[in-house]
Amino acid sequence: MSDLRIRGVSKRFGHVTAVGGVDLDVPAGSRTAVVGASGSGKSTLLRLVAGFEAPDAGIIAYGDEVLAKGPRIIPAHKRGIGIVSQDGALFPHLDVAENISFGLDKGADKKASVAALLEAVELEQRLATRRPHELSGGQQQRVALARALARRPRLMLLDEPFSALDASLRQSVREVVAHALQSAGVASILVTHDQAEALSYADQVAVIRDGLFAQVGPPRDLYLRPLTKETAVFLGRAILILAYAGPGYVDCALGRIPAATRGKVGPVEVMLRPEQVMVHASPSLESTSPVGRDGRAVPGVVTESRFEGADCAVTVSVGDGAMSLALKLPSFGAPEVGSVVHLVVGGEAHVF
Ligand code: ADP
Ligand code: MG
Repeated sequence: MSDLRIRGVSKRFGHVTAVGGVDLDVPAGSRTAVVGASGSGKSTLLRLVAGFEAPDAGIIAYGDEVLAKGPRIIPAHKRGIGIVSQDGALFPHLDVAENISFGLDKGADKKASVAALLEAVELEQRLATRRPHELSGGQQQRVALARALARRPRLMLLDEPFSALDASLRQSVREVVAHALQSAGVASILVTHDQAEALSYADQVAVIRDGLFAQVGPPRDLYLRPLTKETAVFLGRAILILAYAGPGYVDCALGRIPAATRGKVGPVEVMLRPEQVMVHASPSLESTSPVGRDGRAVPGVVTESRFEGADCAVTVSVGDGAMSLALKLPSFGAPEVGSVVHLVVGGEAHVF
């Protein structure tokens, strides 16, 4: 099976460049997420792929088939591409079964197909006769996906389909959607402003900023090895510090930390993710401390601690106040304000 290829695609509205020249490959059966702030061009990109908009320039192809070459495009209904939007957009006057079978070919065994599609999105068969307003938000989104799957698309576009759902539901609906698409062997592009959602959904994440991709890669690469500080802080909480690079390590206020220094020697800026910093309670600065990889752990003092339920937001002052670290620790057993702790860093520091 071949896949979606986007090359140099751009789209302007008046003097606003919504998409500024984007390249992307989506392998068949894979999951891509495009994550960016509101107004960064996510929906425009999806609408270009779907065929609701024509690019000003660039090529969109699926396998050998050119879907768009500049403003010359193949219409949306001939692309074999499904789309689910934020509100699902179900037909309010049709019941669930009618909504789903709206996407089916004439002559298909509609009853059996609807039953199979309801099962694929993990909805109970008894919901088939309900109208959309009789369903929860999460159920509506799953019906919208079933309706889009009914047409057997080769690619599914998901435009913030979970953002109207509350946090607890969002994750479970996202898992159902990912599973249904995987079982059907359908590739997808999810666009979202939620970093955790993008990182957990996709095997390829593209960070979009002002209509351009800042970085594209596997989620772990983007999270642990962002190209810029801007991308680092966009994707999650980050500790950004000055360090001194040597061969394969950096020295900083948190000790000597392994790092891919790429031949750099001298002052550098590095990033650590807060969860790399392990906090050990210690009765006093003089006591035996846990041992870091360089043979020592770094002492610090807890200056703030805020209970947040499962977690505690803890601030640790290091080096006589030269540096303050904002960390999240499990609230059970979290150190109190004034406690002396020892910090040990795990993993590598990322050198910009
Ligand atoms: P996102 O989905 O990331 O929030 P959009 O793709 O909707 O971003 O919008 C990107 C930019 O393009 C925004 O500045 C938006 O105002 C503009 N835009 C999108 N669609 C249109 C349109 N049909 N007409 C004019 N401007 C538009
Ligand atoms: Mg949008």
